Amino acid sequence: MPWIDERFEENVVVTTLEQGMNWARQSSIWPMTFGLACCAIEMMAAGASRFDLDRFGAGAFRATPRQADLMIVAGTVTHKMASRVRRLYEQMPDPKYVIAMGACTVGGGPYFKYGYHVVKGVDLVVPVDVYVPGCPPRPEALLEGLMRVQDKIKAKRIAKGAIDELPVPHHSGQVA
Ligand code: SF4
Repeated sequence: MPWIDERFEENVVVTTLEQGMNWARQSSIWPMTFGLACCAIEMMAAGASRFDLDRFGAGAFRATPRQADLMIVAGTVTHKMASRVRRLYEQMPDPKYVIAMGACTVGGGPYFKYGYHVVKGVDLVVPVDVYVPGCPPRPEALLEGLMRVQDKIKAKRIAKGAIDELPVPHHSGQVA
């Protein structure tokens, strides 16, 4: 009966368990409440109503690393702070992601040459998934970084023994 076929096409979505789980995870990222310097002000703006991180399901900032799966390192990472950043990262459950937000976090920023007290890139302390440059980056740039994290989650293989990444549709609709 052709009308049944049409109804199926309109109303039934077929996917894999893996893609369904990835879709759920990328739609409910919980960042850690965590800011180090001026970049954190822009991060807070990204979470407020004008830029509205909640549109991406990522507005529930958690007050403990044990409930967070995204660390946004926003600000200057001093040597004194580095061990705390590492400890917070280790307290987050897997799978977890890190955004390096701002020039200081990415590579030392304005402190690169003379800032003896600043770590020249947070990737010396924790693995970084997405780098967002700028001093400070605008909230839109952080949102772009968040979308790149979502792409990584969408492509993650969960199945045992799977090593390849899943193809992720580009915004143009093409598949990578
Ligand atoms: Fe401040 Fe610029 Fe460093 Fe961000 S990158 S923490 S705005 S000095």
